[in-house]
Amino acid sequence: MTANLLEFDLEGLAAFCAGLGEKRFRATQLFRWIHQCGVDDFENMSDLAKSLRQKLQLHAHVAALPILSQQMSADGCIKWLFDVGAGDAIETVFIPEDDRGTLCISSQAGCAVGCRFCATGHQGFSRNLSTGEILAQLWFTEHFLRKHFQREERVISNVVMMGMGEPLQNYSALLPALKTMLDDHAYGLSRRRVTVSTSGVLPMITRLAQDCPVALAVSLHAPNDNLRDNLVPLNRKYPLAALLSECTAYLKHAPRDFITFEYCMLEGVNDQPEQAQELIDLIRLHAKNGLRCKFNLIPFNPFAESGLRRSADEQVQKFARLLQGAGIVTTVRKTRGDDIAAACGQLAGDVQDRTRVAQRVAAQRAEPIHWMAPTPQGAGADRSVTADPKP
Ligand code: SF4
Repeated sequence: MTANLLEFDLEGLAAFCAGLGEKRFRATQLFRWIHQCGVDDFENMSDLAKSLRQKLQLHAHVAALPILSQQMSADGCIKWLFDVGAGDAIETVFIPEDDRGTLCISSQAGCAVGCRFCATGHQGFSRNLSTGEILAQLWFTEHFLRKHFQREERVISNVVMMGMGEPLQNYSALLPALKTMLDDHAYGLSRRRVTVSTSGVLPMITRLAQDCPVALAVSLHAPNDNLRDNLVPLNRKYPLAALLSECTAYLKHAPRDFITFEYCMLEGVNDQPEQAQELIDLIRLHAKNGLRCKFNLIPFNPFAESGLRRSADEQVQKFARLLQGAGIVTTVRKTRGDDIAAACGQLAGDVQDRTRVAQRVAAQRAEPIHWMAPTPQGAGADRSVTADPKP
């Protein structure tokens, strides 16, 4: 069994090379060949000593992920389906824009969090990806796209860990992958341009702040615990007040001076003016302690099993205006790649559910969605909405 060198950050590769009796600078050379040049054949690494190339042939390899499909959207997005073995497949999406190229990377085959509006969450969970499987998505796509666009320089300028999976539930594999993305001998991405998106795994947000602070996006989706418990089940373990306090603490380390809150707009569920006001009150409360944030409103991308509907465009705009009127920077995300099911919340790959997550999510759909609407007197009035099973 030889080692897959995509599994290592530079420190790991230096340790591997030391095990072969090689000095650290050899690891740096090797790291550059693999990540900067996209070379996987040791014979083509021309400045490595012949003796090292021979050792590498015996003890190492660079493992790309087999591609099951590649689809190109009318708007230029490209989606790949990669085989990660044992019946599991994961998705990766490239989103081109005028001033940047963003790659959306998966961190797990499936997801155990089970958010109600997310296609991945409905599939259940198979397993964590390894560091090599996370990095292989960037390694392959970056070098494919350079050839595709006939460019010498870097094509992918931004990475978002927003594909399949909750990245902070796969922290030990995520960390070396993030370090490699940032390493000047590899991809050299700015911390501000690498974003980890989480549903709110609090202890791991604390760890990320210490180990590798990159931009943080948090899937909020609700202005109170009642509703968020239902939409993002992890909220039952890590409720909103604790989550927002943790976000405030993260800002001391973050490369950007704000946290991005993602808010998926669901018709009749979380898109009402009363809920915008509740959100404003919540953010103002935490702003007193130093929370600075931006909101990203995401039009829901419906899928058959969700039983949920996309908010009307006017409702999304109205919600955005209410937040903006309260001084909260708010944008509405442009839907990209929806003709190839590559838009936010649509990534589903192909996952063998080895847990009971899919069952739990199915049962959860039968529960009514509760939210607390403030009355004119300020007291909460309980409301409930039952999601329509026929979107
Ligand atoms: S939104 Fe993210 S955390 Fe929630 S189920 Fe989907 S992949 Fe998992």
